[in-house]
Amino acid sequence: MEKLSISINDGVHQGTWVPIHISDNGPQLSHLLFVDDVFLFTTAKNSQLRFITDRFARFSGASGLKFNLSKSRAFYSTGSGSSSLWFTPWTTLGRLGSLVPYVDIHDLHLSEKDMFSKGNPHTQSLYTQLPSLVSDVINNTNFKFNDSIEDTFIWTNKKNGTYTAKSGYNWLLSLRDPGTIHNPLNAWSWIWKLQLFEKIKFFFWLACHNSVPTLYLLNHRKMSSSATCTRCGLQNESFLHCIRDCATSSQALIFSAGVWWSWRHRNLMCLNNETCSPIRSGFGGIIRNTFGNYLVGFSGFIPGLSDILLVELYAIYKGLLLAKDMNIDELACYSDSSHCVNLIKGPQVRYHIHAVLIQDIKELVSQSNVSHHHTLRVGNQCVDFFAKLEASLDADFLTHASPP
Ligand SMILES: [Zn+2]
Repeated sequence: MEKLSISINDGVHQGTWVPIHISDNGPQLSHLLFVDDVFLFTTAKNSQLRFITDRFARFSGASGLKFNLSKSRAFYSTGSGSSSLWFTPWTTLGRLGSLVPYVDIHDLHLSEKDMFSKGNPHTQSLYTQLPSLVSDVINNTNFKFNDSIEDTFIWTNKKNGTYTAKSGYNWLLSLRDPGTIHNPLNAWSWIWKLQLFEKIKFFFWLACHNSVPTLYLLNHRKMSSSATCTRCGLQNESFLHCIRDCATSSQALIFSAGVWWSWRHRNLMCLNNETCSPIRSGFGGIIRNTFGNYLVGFSGFIPGLSDILLVELYAIYKGLLLAKDMNIDELACYSDSSHCVNLIKGPQVRYHIHAVLIQDIKELVSQSNVSHHHTLRVGNQCVDFFAKLEASLDADFLTHASPP
């Protein structure tokens, strides 16, 4: 492995391997070695991928070690969208070129931006036949591009795109248990946020960790001679037996009633609108004049599960676009997310997971006289109303001529 490290360092010194900067002014990083794991960092360019492939083929030939591609992952972000559509791993599916028998000669030169700028369905302009699953994924994906941000690999497990040992450790844990998206150690941490007595929360927490001291558990830990339920004497006293299955347990009724109410609640939510509401994240905003009078309001949603930061940034972006359309050239922009305000006011964030949107906002801001301020959500109830309104509307962006 040291030979590999020396070989990569040679590439960096010769300028054939382009390392990445950890932060805008931070040191350069080309690779990290952990026993038999290798992290590689470089720009998302065809030349770099060719160089890596070539360097590793030579290393494999010389050392007899082989790379397990099924255990390898690439992380990247979009920027200008100028990377090859076929030979850079810009989707979670890997390289598109490896998913098709051949790439049609008409499509060979295409970049990501070429395909995504040709309307939806994005894949309709391709001559190459894609597997239907791949087409579905691409046609349901939307990217924003910004020419001033170069395509680059980023660490997607942190929003600011920088690698930390903690995020790396959490990622490794999630590999061990693929069903768990978040850190499995924190999977039940929501229990502590419930508005319940501490003793009830503690009981739930024990139950979810299979740690309620039932006879079955005590027997398993050699702390009780028998696991059999002392109330009915028929079955082992597991947690579910205690609260639901035991013949002497009147809680069976409570349990069934709980399940039934839960089901009823679900049906009320889904069937009142005849179908389940699709998952979406709403946002809203208002534009006032110098005297605080209402000029226009806007609301919209981003389909699918979106993170809060993206929704906040998107609201600012759409608000600035609307102000631009209204020829407003002096604007004080209030957001209830101080993190957003800091990102917009701060230096360019190349490795941030939303770098392109942040850059778009910065460019809009630079075109007019905009100042940014942080405000509290309680002081902004009208906007809050618009954001919640979107749950029941179909348009992805609406303006409101009068206040609600
Ligand atoms: Zn029993």
